[in-house]
Amino acid sequence: MENKINFDKGSVWIVGAGPGDPGLLTVLAVKAIRTADVIFYDALINSEVLHLAKPIAKLVYVGKKAKKHSISQLEISSKLVSESKKNKRVLRLKGGDPFVFGRGGEEALALTLNKIPFRIVPGITAGIGGLAYAGIPATHRDFNTSITFISAYGAGGEKPETIDWKSFVQTSHLIVVYMGLERIYWVCKELILQGRSKKENIAIISNATRKNQKVFVSTLESCSKELRKEKIESPALLVIGKNVLLSPILNWFKTKEIDYFYEQELLKKKHAEYKSI
Ligand code: SAH
Repeated sequence: MENKINFDKGSVWIVGAGPGDPGLLTVLAVKAIRTADVIFYDALINSEVLHLAKPIAKLVYVGKKAKKHSISQLEISSKLVSESKKNKRVLRLKGGDPFVFGRGGEEALALTLNKIPFRIVPGITAGIGGLAYAGIPATHRDFNTSITFISAYGAGGEKPETIDWKSFVQTSHLIVVYMGLERIYWVCKELILQGRSKKENIAIISNATRKNQKVFVSTLESCSKELRKEKIESPALLVIGKNVLLSPILNWFKTKEIDYFYEQELLKKKHAEYKSI
């Protein structure tokens, strides 16, 4: 595979890295990571992926730290602008897809306002990749005719009341909730209030497509209680709908399926430590 791409100096690429398994990176994402001079990356980025960077590339973590943003969205956008103005090839690397609950739109707007050339490289969003690795078809003709991705934090980030729960009452509708693990009790309560059955199936997919992926299937009424006994951690998706019934049957993923680009030892040599601005 030829490595050449039109990643110009002074431009910013906003790239989706997929949900975790490095094999799910797009060819374009791999080329961009290999070419970038500076990479601003999030907490969801697998370190395997970062090892693809040039040894001289500057790797800057801009993710969350212990429930707090280590760096604000405004600061991230202004760093993208200032680094590109230094004539660098700047890569903004995000988990999943940059335009799906990834604030890629906000960053692209900031670049436009500052007349910085940019490109968006889509990635496989967790709601698609995670479902595939959990054996849950996103659509199945016997079960659903539509699918919705929602953020448990609502449109305003902190305003879950902006979610229009009434529109999810149809059982022919599959719901995939992002950022919902901490709000699972409330999500289930709202859905039951809107008329979905207490016995309706819900799957919780944690660390989808990664070595520590876990899929837990339960019902809307009992999942919060049952979860207390399970060790389910973030990031996780909540999936509600009949399609979930297929998970125990189609659950093909074994962690050995993950392909790695390099041997671990080689990786360690390649990057002794990450540099930061
Ligand atoms: N842009 C990302 C979403 C970022 S929002 C994308 O397109 O996938 C962060 C939320 O995404 C997490 O709270 C979780 O709900 C979901 N998520 C991301 N990666 C995940 C993974 N590997 N497994 C399960 N959920 C994941």
